[in-house]
Amino acid sequence: MKMHVLLTTLHAKYSHASLALPCIASCCSNLDDVDVDICELTVNEQHHALLRRIMSYGAEVVAFSCYIWNIEQTLKLAADIKQISADTRIVLGGPEASFGVFELMHEHPAVDFVIKGEGELVFRKLLEQLNVFKQNPERLENVDKSFAAIENLFFRDGVDIATGPLSKKPLELDQIPSPFTAGLVDLSRPLTYYETSRGCPFSCAFCLSSVEGAVRSFSMARIESDLGWLMRHNTSQIKFVDRTFNFDSRRANHIWLFILENNQSSRFHFEIAADLLTDDNLTLLSRVPAGVFHFEIGIQSASQETLEQVNRKSNLAAICANVKRLREETAVEIHLDLVAGLPGEEYAGLLSSLQVVAELRPHMIQIEPLKVLKGAPMREIANKLGYRYSGNTPYTILATPWLGYADICRVETVGRLLDLFYNHGGFHHSLRFMQQRMTFSALFDRLAHSAHTLDLSGRATRRLYELFAELCGQLLSEEARSLLYDTLFFDYCSCEMPLQGRLPAFIDDRKQQCRWPKRQELAQSHDLPDDSRIRLFRFEFMQDYRGIVPDGGQSAIDFVYISGEGRGLQVLILPAPSE
Ligand code: SF4
Repeated sequence: MKMHVLLTTLHAKYSHASLALPCIASCCSNLDDVDVDICELTVNEQHHALLRRIMSYGAEVVAFSCYIWNIEQTLKLAADIKQISADTRIVLGGPEASFGVFELMHEHPAVDFVIKGEGELVFRKLLEQLNVFKQNPERLENVDKSFAAIENLFFRDGVDIATGPLSKKPLELDQIPSPFTAGLVDLSRPLTYYETSRGCPFSCAFCLSSVEGAVRSFSMARIESDLGWLMRHNTSQIKFVDRTFNFDSRRANHIWLFILENNQSSRFHFEIAADLLTDDNLTLLSRVPAGVFHFEIGIQSASQETLEQVNRKSNLAAICANVKRLREETAVEIHLDLVAGLPGEEYAGLLSSLQVVAELRPHMIQIEPLKVLKGAPMREIANKLGYRYSGNTPYTILATPWLGYADICRVETVGRLLDLFYNHGGFHHSLRFMQQRMTFSALFDRLAHSAHTLDLSGRATRRLYELFAELCGQLLSEEARSLLYDTLFFDYCSCEMPLQGRLPAFIDDRKQQCRWPKRQELAQSHDLPDDSRIRLFRFEFMQDYRGIVPDGGQSAIDFVYISGEGRGLQVLILPAPSE
């Protein structure tokens, strides 16, 4: 009789597809008498619904991949599975199960096994062993010796918890059969994770990759085979999970060139170290079409001293110079990250870091309070320096010697406002208008001051623009405020059609000027697709905002909204015909 095994995890969002589970399944695919299923769930589902889904597989072994966002729910599920079926073996793996394993198993008797570190080969050996016992129950008396031979496996030995030999010997990555060609990855989700390497050459104290050991790459032949397969299957978005994709600049160039020569319609997301980019990299990247590459670059802090205290070896001057070149010479989308709460950085220092980052004009800025992760060297530093951080996931800081709790809340609000107003991409002219009056960091600090008690979640577009008007309006004279509202209305019309009776509140006193002309009133020369729905809106603005810098006096502008099946909304912005 075959042994049934279920690999499962709870994603933070539906859009994510697991890479870890397919890699483990592909390593176990040729085991005799073992059937492996994968079931991908999300943390947003009800506990009971999750439990029913898992139990419906009738698996004898249920293995969970554990991260900071799912560990608590995972442990509750493990406890209930054991209540329903005491013989089901529960296995945990993943970063959140790999540290503090003895405590975890003591506190959670439902957990039978924990795998520390890379799971593929350890899990395969565990299944082989469990299957031997299933097929030969008489050999059960050797249970302890058999598990004790498996490296990096924690198991129960009577009332004790025991381990196999603990080893940091890394897996040779080409040993993992391709989970893509084996059809194990769910490509129906919007985002497909893919890795060409594991580990990181750097050792930033706040990051778990710093303890993973040396960086290793799949062979180039294997990378070209998997990546080629993904591109041939028109995978819409491929997110490279390599910790520092360009740790080797020649390797990075080779892969980027391969993508350029073979891509059909995929988009790619990489985490890179900007200071490692070479001239050859930048020359190649200048050939990448707009919208195809997205780079996430960690700046973390603009204070070299602070970075040194967490052992982050990066060259800030080179990062800034290369990000500027990326913005000027390439069409790569840039996302820059900052972390709040690193040693020595006060709130004012954090605002300086934000200003440095904003001046690089990235497409997105993310700022988050530090998480003191289980297993990361930052725990020791934090304990030594007297940090306060939550004992619950995601272990966010609550106070540091340089930041009080109120500062941390303010940083969180700044981060949320950056998402709403900057990363959104639809406040271009209005943000520029505000920045002519104050610095970027001062603006977001002052907005956060006013917004700290507001519920910033789930606002519809019109409400979002109204919030911007309300928060920024408070910072301006009456005269400047009317000009801001004019600018903001241009931004609004550029991404959403204003509706009669549902105009944003800040344009209330000018609603008489709003017009919704018929399509026939549009100049004939515009070639618009026949099968589309076309709608028009016309408004007389105080300035012409169509150029990079607002120009001239009053300007009547037509917005043409084009929509159709399978296409997003397209907006054409044209001078209105003279009356
Ligand atoms: S933060 Fe980035 S560079 Fe530093 S260890 Fe982690 S993955 Fe490597």
